[in-house]
Amino acid sequence: MSLARILLLSVFASCFSAALYGEYRQHGTHVHGEGELLVVLEDQALDISFRIPAGDLIGFEHAARTPEEEAAIASAKALLRDGDQVFTLTGAPQCELVRSSALFALTTHDHGEEETEGPTDNAAQAQEDEHGQHAEFHVRYKYQCTEPMELEAFVFNIFEHYPAVEKVKTALIISSEQSAATLTASQPEIRIKECRFSIGSWCVF
Ligand SMILES: [Zn+2]
Repeated sequence: MSLARILLLSVFASCFSAALYGEYRQHGTHVHGEGELLVVLEDQALDISFRIPAGDLIGFEHAARTPEEEAAIASAKALLRDGDQVFTLTGAPQCELVRSSALFALTTHDHGEEETEGPTDNAAQAQEDEHGQHAEFHVRYKYQCTEPMELEAFVFNIFEHYPAVEKVKTALIISSEQSAATLTASQPEIRIKECRFSIGSWCVF
């Protein structure tokens, strides 16, 4: 792993730490097919949050225009809120879901192309959707675990539900120890108790 990549991961982790405390980027960028996941275990509190481009789940990234699109958003949110469907905690950490939430968030950004002003009317809105409008799902879960040290692995099942999700950049913070991994359909699991090697406080999987 190069130093540049380690630095990037550090930035990612700090961005995500901020995100966890309610500072989600409103105008950030995302890459279609890629999600970001943060798992934080501190004492008995397990906080999991992730963001994923809406297009990878429901095929569009604008406010719902039809009842069908509204239903697609609602059904994705319902699935995402259900932690049991979205990930698996192996071992016996005895975690109980305290609360979960799933938001459909419209974002506006470009991909290094021309800047676009915010929409001022319907025509501008349509233009924006095609050129600068994006949307993401922002999902959070809060668990309380009575045996947190028994947590063996975290398996992200998002790939089974949504094949358009190609990879998920993941940061894991356990008792202030940070680690990182990129999860894919063929490697959806983070082993909590294994590191191939570590650099400083970073565990590299
Ligand atoms: Zn997008």
